[in-house]
Amino acid sequence: MTSTTPHAHHRPHHPRALISGAGIGGPALAYWLHRYGYAVTVVERAPALRTGGYKVDIRGVAVEAAERMGVLADIRRASTDMRTGAYVNGGGRRVATLPADIFGARVDGDDEIMRGDLTRILYERTLGDVEYVFGDSISSLADDGTGVDVTFERGTPRRFDLVVGADGLHSNVRRLAFGDESRYLRHIGAYISSFSVPDELASAREELYHMAPGRLVCAYRAAGDSGAKAWLSFRSPRLDFDHRDAAAQRKLLAEAFEGVGWQVPRLLDASRTDDDFYFDGLHLIEMARWSHGRVVLLGDAAHCASPASGQGTGMALVGAYVLAGELAAAGGDPRTAFARYEAEMRPYVTVNQRMAEKFVPQMTPGSWGAIRFRHVMMRMLPHMPWKNYVVKKLAEDVQRCAKAITLKPYAVPARIPA
Ligand SMILES: Cc1cc2nc3c(=O)[nH]c(=O)nc-3n(C[C@H](O)[C@H](O)[C@H](O)COP(=O)(O)OP(=O)(O)OC[C@H]3O[C@@H](n4cnc5c(N)ncnc54)[C@H](O)[C@@H]3O)c2cc1C
Repeated sequence: MTSTTPHAHHRPHHPRALISGAGIGGPALAYWLHRYGYAVTVVERAPALRTGGYKVDIRGVAVEAAERMGVLADIRRASTDMRTGAYVNGGGRRVATLPADIFGARVDGDDEIMRGDLTRILYERTLGDVEYVFGDSISSLADDGTGVDVTFERGTPRRFDLVVGADGLHSNVRRLAFGDESRYLRHIGAYISSFSVPDELASAREELYHMAPGRLVCAYRAAGDSGAKAWLSFRSPRLDFDHRDAAAQRKLLAEAFEGVGWQVPRLLDASRTDDDFYFDGLHLIEMARWSHGRVVLLGDAAHCASPASGQGTGMALVGAYVLAGELAAAGGDPRTAFARYEAEMRPYVTVNQRMAEKFVPQMTPGSWGAIRFRHVMMRMLPHMPWKNYVVKKLAEDVQRCAKAITLKPYAVPARIPA
């Protein structure tokens, strides 16, 4: 267990907040809560900051949330800066290419960044002000109405004024405070895996796609030095596996892509040795409430919309801003603040979850006929007189979801009572 304990953290008469999870939502919330006068501790199960991962979008209102945190310039500097996209057939021949004016078109300042870079930016923004404890996890929560007594797997027990679960899709805080995840998790018909691959299997600033019925493969290399990555998605009903058993997950992935052409066998080889291997279902988390007494959930823990929404990162950033802002506006009263946080966030979350569900079947065409049709459409698109209209229409749908909330201008209060 390692811990960073900056002296700024010692705020004896300030309310104390414990956040579980140093992903996206956790550090973003830590930033805002510190600004509003809280003494903040973040506990992360991983032994160090998890800086691996895939690329994620920052769109719509999330751009504004990042700007208000003062991290937008850093995000722009670390942009993946993807330029083009192409579809390849089983023999590796390019059958359709989307040029930069279609593929790379960025709307309203939206950007894309490697998840690890974003986590690092948020962590560095908060490092001097927030206590981070790595390599530990909450083991029990006892809320007596005036505070929460917390025990840890390794650290000594402590008491906090509030506890936030920002610990992702398989949230530990959710399990402890709300019960088993099977009550809240709904599978939406596909799985996704992401991992690092040798650089020669991808092309710089380009996304290469290959489709087989019910299966989609993408290899890319972002700007910067994060190395080549691949993600593979396949349609499937719910599979039974342990989400911590990487060997079982690698086997499921290899079975799902057996016989698929292009460079898929080499990608699968790379998946066998990569430590940054990720595999999980496209799942929604659907809960009637995100808070219970002094315990509240944020980001994927509360309302995962799956990677198919392209909005999980944005919702975690925006949720952090709203949750902290409502706590400040309510003078630290969790009951009022959590109710307002939910009321603000619900419509935005719902529209993005519905979008993800709608998108999943479109991600992976179900037959060779549908794949050929997709190739023809992609080949024709750059030459169509109405291509700008089509691109604009697609962007509008995404923007409608990404902008389905208006950020209130929360004021920094003089003092929140401990
Ligand atoms: C392959 C893939 C592609 C994606 N693409 C996109 C995209 O294009 N756009 C987009 O917006 N989103 C995308 N996402 C989703 C995005 O990564 C998540 O929605 C986002 O990271 C959610 O942030 P979070 O802070 O809620 O949770 P996470 O980022 O998952 O962070 C949770 C943190 O909690 C930690 N943790 C877990 N258990 C414990 C415990 N017991 N105790 C302490 N800490 C714990 C974890 O180690 C992790 O650091 C993608 C996801 C995947 C998997």
